[in-house]
Amino acid sequence: MKFKLNYSLFCVLIFTCMAVYGQKKYVMVIHGGAGTILKKNMTPEKEAAYIADLTKALQSGYEVIKSGKTSMDAVEAAIHVMEDSPLFNAGKGAVFTHDGRNEMDAAVMDGKTLSAGSVAGVTVIRNPISAARAVMEKSEHVMMVGPGAEAFAKQAKLEIVDPSYFYTKERWDGLQKAIQEDSVKTVLDHGNKKSMKLGTINKDYKFGTVGAVALDKSGNLAAGTSTGGMTNKRYGRVGDAPIIGAGTYANNATAGISCTGWGEFYIRNVVAHDISAMMEYKKMSVADASKAVLAKVGKMGGDGGLIAMDKEGHVAMPFNTEGMYRGTVTADGKIEVLIYK
Ligand code: ASP
Repeated sequence: MKFKLNYSLFCVLIFTCMAVYGQKKYVMVIHGGAGTILKKNMTPEKEAAYIADLTKALQSGYEVIKSGKTSMDAVEAAIHVMEDSPLFNAGKGAVFTHDGRNEMDAAVMDGKTLSAGSVAGVTVIRNPISAARAVMEKSEHVMMVGPGAEAFAKQAKLEIVDPSYFYTKERWDGLQKAIQEDSVKTVLDHGNKKSMKLGTINKDYKFGTVGAVALDKSGNLAAGTSTGGMTNKRYGRVGDAPIIGAGTYANNATAGISCTGWGEFYIRNVVAHDISAMMEYKKMSVADASKAVLAKVGKMGGDGGLIAMDKEGHVAMPFNTEGMYRGTVTADGKIEVLIYK
């Protein structure tokens, strides 16, 4: 049978090619926390500092991907920049617990192998994201907590610091304010809603769990999240970030996801895995699945946001707060950083 290319078929082909070619292919997406981030509360200096550090994080991640290394290397590199910055609630800049300590949580997941690692409640590891990666790569476990995780990090030759390294005046003042307001309530590092259980939140307009999702040249996805959790937290409280499937998840078949927000709601909704499941079982796009799951969180009273990227390099960055520090880089190195709605 002779194939006859008629005019309409030809047009459909051309338009399809244009649409596919015209779509941006992202290789990395990051966040630096969601919350009551309003332009009117921001000084130009502070805004510039956030933009500079988010850009630096994206650049580091991009260089890694460009050099042909793995998406896991890129996630770790980008998160190191944000953990080392005092602007974000992770590593240096982590919020204080009720007892005046910095207890950090972090997780990573590899989308190709579905390997994962996480640490919770650690106080002396300079870069908790590297400890999470070490748990994944150098142990047969997925999650380690407290002193055990710290002993393991030492053994893995990660940088150990004195807990005073994590002190920042801004976070310390935030704790004093929270204690003054109500010593038994936990203050979230984001949001401004009231909760029957947790009390009034976010009087100090500070935000900043950090996260990254990357896609490398071999088409593999990786995701990571790192946080100091919530100001004034007690009793060894652990948030969603180090819980695989809640705050962090990656699967080459669907997407890589990192969340930021009111951790308890993200745990109860198993947010990151739910997005992946919707994509896998309902064949939803990364944008639709992310939106649908965040809507469930919002309906329950939780607030926050998330970043997600699928294996084709499509990204979603939804949030139900006033703002979310976030940024992307495309395969050709174009960086975009956004803060407000
Ligand atoms: N999700 C984090 C937690 O609940 C906090 C945050 O994203 O700012 O620990």
